Amino acid sequence: MLYGQPHIACHECDALLATVAVPPGKKLVCPRCRCTLRKPARDPIDRGLALSLTSLTLMVPAFFMPIMTFNMLGLDTVDTMVKGVLHLFQAGFWWMALLVMFCSIVAPMLQNALVLLICLLVRAGRYGGLLVLLLKSQSRIGRWAMLEVYMLSILVAYIKMIDSGQVHMGVGMICFSGMMLSTTLNAVMFDTHPIWEKVGQTRGGLHENRPL
Ligand SMILES: [Zn+2]
Repeated sequence: MLYGQPHIACHECDALLATVAVPPGKKLVCPRCRCTLRKPARDPIDRGLALSLTSLTLMVPAFFMPIMTFNMLGLDTVDTMVKGVLHLFQAGFWWMALLVMFCSIVAPMLQNALVLLICLLVRAGRYGGLLVLLLKSQSRIGRWAMLEVYMLSILVAYIKMIDSGQVHMGVGMICFSGMMLSTTLNAVMFDTHPIWEKVGQTRGGLHENRPL
């Protein structure tokens, strides 16, 4: 019987199942439809640390090195990510500049910094209030990191300008692509579920779930 026991519903066939602790590297499979319900990573903390450090390191050249160089009639125009935001401010599109700055610079930076801090706290065995605050902030800020939108705008600009002159992708573009890849992988693969479980075990004092 499932009464008084934590349980989950299969998202494919709605079967109600008792939850069990799944060790890293194993997976929890629905006995009815064989759908994978949970698959904890073998080394989520080390991977989170590696990916967030890679992203944060690549952010500096991605933001300040040339994304694109446009040459028309012998005149070179070099554009960086930060310059692009400043151009929007100067052109009077301050609301768009703020949105681009937040979604493409601030949110990814915060997202990676939060994952890094969470991993460091977990490694240090600190499952207190600070970790809970960081976990909640990380899940909220992650929704605002939209690097793919900026990448799409670069590709559109490249296609539009290619007929008017010579366009060269710069070092910033390579770093931006690497940063986007590591940030996306971190967002998809960083599993906070085992950390929340550990927080619950450390804090103790299980509360009963009551219908409202
Ligand atoms: Zn199922």
